[in-house]
Amino acid sequence: MTKFKALGLQKSLLDAVADLGFETPSEVQEKAIPILLEDETDLVALAQTGTGKTAAFGFPLIQKIDPESRTTQGLILSPTRELCLQITNELKFYAKYEKSINVVAIYGGASITEQARQVKRGAQIVVATPGRMKDMIGRRLVDISKIDYCILDEADEMLNMGFFEDIQDILSNTPKEKSTWLFSATMPREVSVIAKKFMHSPQEITVGDKNAGATTVQHEFYVVGGRDRYPALKRLADTNPDIFSVVFCRTKRDTQRVAEKLIEDGYNAGALHGDLSQNQRDLVMNSFRKKQIQMLVATDVAARGIDVDNITHVINYQLPDEIETYTHRSGRTGRAGKSGISMVIVTRSELRKIKAIENKIKQKFISKTIPTGMEICEIQLYHLASKIKDTEINEEIESYLPAINDVFQGIDREELIKKIVSVEFTRFFNYYNKKRDLNTTDSRERGERRGDRGGDVPTSGSVRYFINVGEKDGYDWMSLKDFIRDTVSLGKEDVFKVDVKDSFSFFNTDADVTEKILSIFTDFKVDGRFVNVEVSKNPGGGGGRGRRDRGRSGGGSRDRNRRSSGGRGRDRNTSSKRRDGKSSGKSSYSGKRRDKRKSDFF
Ligand code: ADP
Ligand code: MG
Repeated sequence: MTKFKALGLQKSLLDAVADLGFETPSEVQEKAIPILLEDETDLVALAQTGTGKTAAFGFPLIQKIDPESRTTQGLILSPTRELCLQITNELKFYAKYEKSINVVAIYGGASITEQARQVKRGAQIVVATPGRMKDMIGRRLVDISKIDYCILDEADEMLNMGFFEDIQDILSNTPKEKSTWLFSATMPREVSVIAKKFMHSPQEITVGDKNAGATTVQHEFYVVGGRDRYPALKRLADTNPDIFSVVFCRTKRDTQRVAEKLIEDGYNAGALHGDLSQNQRDLVMNSFRKKQIQMLVATDVAARGIDVDNITHVINYQLPDEIETYTHRSGRTGRAGKSGISMVIVTRSELRKIKAIENKIKQKFISKTIPTGMEICEIQLYHLASKIKDTEINEEIESYLPAINDVFQGIDREELIKKIVSVEFTRFFNYYNKKRDLNTTDSRERGERRGDRGGDVPTSGSVRYFINVGEKDGYDWMSLKDFIRDTVSLGKEDVFKVDVKDSFSFFNTDADVTEKILSIFTDFKVDGRFVNVEVSKNPGGGGGRGRRDRGRSGGGSRDRNRRSSGGRGRDRNTSSKRRDGKSSGKSSYSGKRRDKRKSDFF
């Protein structure tokens, strides 16, 4: 805090820093903020992803903006819609104690008139993707002729994506006497071209990697019987439909065996161990990099040097002998500023090892329970629904439509939705319906949580909720927890078991705040979009037994009216495009895992 103060930030921003929980500035922040605050200068800042660049330009920008004037004074260009929204949300947060600063996001795939309307109301800061920005300039829906600051964020990425000309066009609409701040992870030739062409003797800063927010890995353990390791692994995978993981086994034999079983069960898995030829290993690693493999089962030796970003989960199928090795394993996730989860499947007799690791890594593990079959069904159901929603329509279908419409004749929307969703849901439901709970922990905790779950608004115990925002909206478990806590004004420990999926999430609170939560999240909008919270049928963290739900038809009997109505002008605008430009939905194994449910090892 005081360190941020020393950089020259004003009180309102320091208060926001405190709310963000930032303790010390990251290197790029430490270097950039004083320069940007003191001088009117162009700047080129090179720093890896995840080093806190948003705050490095965001705080100085907000401090320099004149809140009294409604003129657009700052323009931030960023490569993707997700980043654009992420930056906008961050800046809004930074400016939370600066009441009259408006930050507006401009990006493709959403209503241009709505965005124009927001700009018109007075946006001192506009955060935009180049394509939509150009479009809006062309239609005179935004005026950037008076900006003082232009920020090119992730410049290398923007140029990679072919935005050179757009950027050039956009910049030609900005005044000469402005400051341009360029932020980039790398400095390819194209970036230096931009710098040369559009910037005047920029100051330069370069920082190494590693940032203040490095502890982004959450450590979890799951206690199961020795024979349940494999089914437990499957459930962990099924609970995380977009998993992109490394599964560590102790021996080459186990590695091969687990990978084979996963493949046999229809998962996109692959084995990586020393008995494979170099060629075979290259093939596996290539498929993994391309995300054709979602679960890479590996030995420690073979996995050494895997430099793949965006790994969502590290799963310790078995714990390593050396504690040191655990650190290496878990370090495969939570890279580049992303949060990651390291899961450990343990038997009771191994629990002391967890303690030993905690001491070593100076971080606590969270004790979690393997999800029940019904929890998995619920997650898969929501996942499917949002996947369908985000699916880009293939125009090739057009010519078949008359025939297809014939097939669906007489089926109304509601029924059709039920049918579509049932295709997938029934498969999971049938598979998991009669499966037992895998957890060997005593039922003490579970008993507590069981509570009263009969009605829609439980009054005792802990309650699990569904919320229709997730990773795609830029949340991880920490930020979502903060968001809920702040929105509902809850205490630090009141929101727990936050489980962020791609486009939706779950969390728990005590039942005594359920009413408050549901009432606040009724017609609750963020950025023009409805954020919905509903009580989940499942207690979460594997707390309940799926059997209670047996006999219900899969998903059909739920009271999901609020969500399934779908309408109400909600402007969701998620897509399957990730920040890396890859489609997140496409490699989901759900398309493949059809009939191969035979070996379930129970
Ligand atoms: P970049 O743009 O360099 O990729 P971001 O600005 O997106 O990085 O920041 C990455 C993560 O680090 C974010 O979750 C952000 O909240 C966090 N972060 C940024 N600065 C700090 C800091 N000084 N202390 C702790 N966390 C920080
Ligand atoms: Mg960034």
